[in-house]
Amino acid sequence: MIVDSVLANAKAYLNKEVVDCSIAIEDGKIFKIGKETQMPNADEKVNLQKHLVLPGLIDAHVHLRDEEKAYKEDFYTGTAAAAAGGFTTVLDMPNNTPVTMSAAALKNRMKKAKRRVLVDVGFYSEFPTDIDQVSSIVNQGAVAFKLFMANQVGGLNIDDDQKLQEAFTKVGKTIPVAVHAEDKTLLAANIESMKKANRNDATAFLKAHSEEAEATAIKRLLKIGKETDVHFHFCHITSEEGLNAVVEAKKNGATVTCEVTPNHLLLSSADVPRFGQLLVMMPPLRSENHIEALWKGIANGSIDTLGSDHAPHSLSEKCASDVWDVKVGVPGLETTLPLMLTMVKKNRLTIAQIVHLLAEKPAEIFSLKDRGRLEQGKKADLTVVDYNQRFKIEAGKFKSKAKFSPFNDWEVQGKPVKTYVNGALVMENEEIIAKPGSGKIIRRNP
Ligand SMILES: [Zn+2]
Repeated sequence: MIVDSVLANAKAYLNKEVVDCSIAIEDGKIFKIGKETQMPNADEKVNLQKHLVLPGLIDAHVHLRDEEKAYKEDFYTGTAAAAAGGFTTVLDMPNNTPVTMSAAALKNRMKKAKRRVLVDVGFYSEFPTDIDQVSSIVNQGAVAFKLFMANQVGGLNIDDDQKLQEAFTKVGKTIPVAVHAEDKTLLAANIESMKKANRNDATAFLKAHSEEAEATAIKRLLKIGKETDVHFHFCHITSEEGLNAVVEAKKNGATVTCEVTPNHLLLSSADVPRFGQLLVMMPPLRSENHIEALWKGIANGSIDTLGSDHAPHSLSEKCASDVWDVKVGVPGLETTLPLMLTMVKKNRLTIAQIVHLLAEKPAEIFSLKDRGRLEQGKKADLTVVDYNQRFKIEAGKFKSKAKFSPFNDWEVQGKPVKTYVNGALVMENEEIIAKPGSGKIIRRNP
């Protein structure tokens, strides 16, 4: 038999250790992993020069924008950023224009993305106004619902506990519900009092988006979902109180998982006066004690996933004259892996934890059963890293349309040098090799 390709001379992460091996690929899948002498003949042989090979990374928190927000990012530039950053699968958030919150909107988005994406893309949906439409959204193949609690984004009234409970009952175990947990009422009151005091600075934004607002939202939702089978996946946990609430729910047997972002692990509220509005994000950056709690959560396994929360905006939107009008978030697809590999060098993280947080666990949570591990029969999605390469992050060179980053100029170590999706080389040494539409649209099978 002659397979499509053999990637020789790899140092691959298999069964919790890094092993010298070769990888044979046939028809987009991993055909065999073993010694070079055991490899079948291949149409193409590639020498990976002892680079580190990880299972293709999954970023479950990405805003690809496009449609009416294409000026910020589109399906091509967003997935090019993913491939450049070593991600082979991304899950797209629904706060688009129009908001993804119906089977029709979802179908339209899938159709538009299909011809343009470079990596595999799955889609979230917000909750529809009429919860009877929940099943049609699930049937259309949404990977998860997203519930934004800081203000009304979807159709379902976030102030109505009864309606929320009905929606969670309806969703049951079909797909997870990812949550942006900041309490709307508390936030509105805090913002109002800041505005009354004529506060219009980035620090006022931090104060308004208090730790209390996060923990309150988490606790409220856990209570509403208690009698249902719903799986809450809390996005971007930032505070010790918030994390404790999640840990407590896990102990009590609830199906709950949570995510943290590199922003909240590597930057603090002390950085805000220096960077100003660039660092405005939701939830905001916190003080050192919270950051330590998050690192501890990674170490003891209570944090399940890392997500970049890639949130591209135009620079003028980040520089709005009023802090309350600033668009929240920063791009993250092209910085997450190098930043996290650098933390491995600094002994705060292990390669095993990176693979767990960015591949194995997101694959499990979002039922992406054909990926997340390097194993025979899985999709040949591979992230190849030059673990020793030192470089400076240069936001001006991002594939993303958002060419700014709080990590600009940071010296990092560990660079994604090749990204394979479905067995095909998509990115090599910062160059995009694949054609638009080479990535696949993920439809979750209900
Ligand atoms: Zn987000």
